[in-house]
Amino acid sequence: MLATAAIFEKLHTPFAVGDVEVDDALRPGEALVRIVASGVCHTDALVRDGDFPFPAPGVAGHEGSGIVEAVGPGVTSVSPGQKVIIGWPFCGACRNCLDGQPRYCLSLGPLVAGGARDDGSTTLRRVTGEPLHSHFFGQSSFASYSVCAASSLVPVPSDAAVELLGPLSCGIATGAGAILNALRPPAGSSVVIYGAGAVGLAAVMATRLTGATTIIAVDRVAARLKLARELGATETVNVAAPGTDPVAAVTEICGGPADFALDCTGIVAVLRQAADSVGMRGTVALIGGAPSGAGFTLDHLTTLWGKKVVGILGGEGRSTVLIGALLKLHAQGRFPYDRLIQTFPLSAVNEALEASHSGEVVKPVLLMPA
Ligand SMILES: [Zn+2]
Ligand SMILES: [Zn+2]
Repeated sequence: MLATAAIFEKLHTPFAVGDVEVDDALRPGEALVRIVASGVCHTDALVRDGDFPFPAPGVAGHEGSGIVEAVGPGVTSVSPGQKVIIGWPFCGACRNCLDGQPRYCLSLGPLVAGGARDDGSTTLRRVTGEPLHSHFFGQSSFASYSVCAASSLVPVPSDAAVELLGPLSCGIATGAGAILNALRPPAGSSVVIYGAGAVGLAAVMATRLTGATTIIAVDRVAARLKLARELGATETVNVAAPGTDPVAAVTEICGGPADFALDCTGIVAVLRQAADSVGMRGTVALIGGAPSGAGFTLDHLTTLWGKKVVGILGGEGRSTVLIGALLKLHAQGRFPYDRLIQTFPLSAVNEALEASHSGEVVKPVLLMPA
């Protein structure tokens, strides 16, 4: 069947919007989803820039939401007509999946970046017949249709605004889950969040749902810091202000080191600032994605002082549980993530990526052609 997609033709080149063929002969365990909208995440830009190993030519996009169009043999978890979010793929059988941590599925690499089903077949082709890599994060959602594993679909209530849901599967879950699933800051604690983009602001909103009493957002875009305040930050630090040392600013606000610091930027120099912002028995968390191959250094002595350095991928936990909770919190007015979203038509995918990169838009969401 024909679909419209944003094609990743080659590195360092804008995505090209055009027609593609979707192989809708579903196999056991698969579903065909009509994508209504897809969030744009930093990882999509990493693909285009060669900092995430997804093969060209293909279709990126991994925050898809839409409506189940058809299901393959044996699928009972979803049915046609159901509204869904496409969550991260997982094998369901490895040690980490069985342990309730499918974000750390031992097959995660090939499932998110292999560019095909596990037998090497792709579900996307050019209209002229040449294959295009598919299954980016199991979905390749920069397209009006996606063939994905039914096990990765998260059903949502029929009255949910489906065009706003996609970011809950990756960017928003990554920030919120880091706080709610992984770090769980106790009453009276201090949390500093480096980077007030979609991931960092989701972390701010999630931290406000805990007993943490100091919530500091650090960024270089004044509008994002203003939004951070509105969403729950008790203090903000603008590193673009001349002479600003964020570590000194955090130490002054907290009256000493912070208890938790999150790097939501994926910038190695900022990660070091986050690490230096926490002290004895403090925790620094790696949240944002850096270019593949990146390394970092820490101060040995102050790390030895009981500091914990943890990586937290995708907010951890199970998509169904976390996304379900975030949807309810949103309906209760306690998690207003929709304030981060600005929609673009799929044809403006490159403008959406640029708006996110410049800081002008926090979370672009692409609306697929009907
Ligand atoms: Zn697994
Ligand atoms: Zn993402």
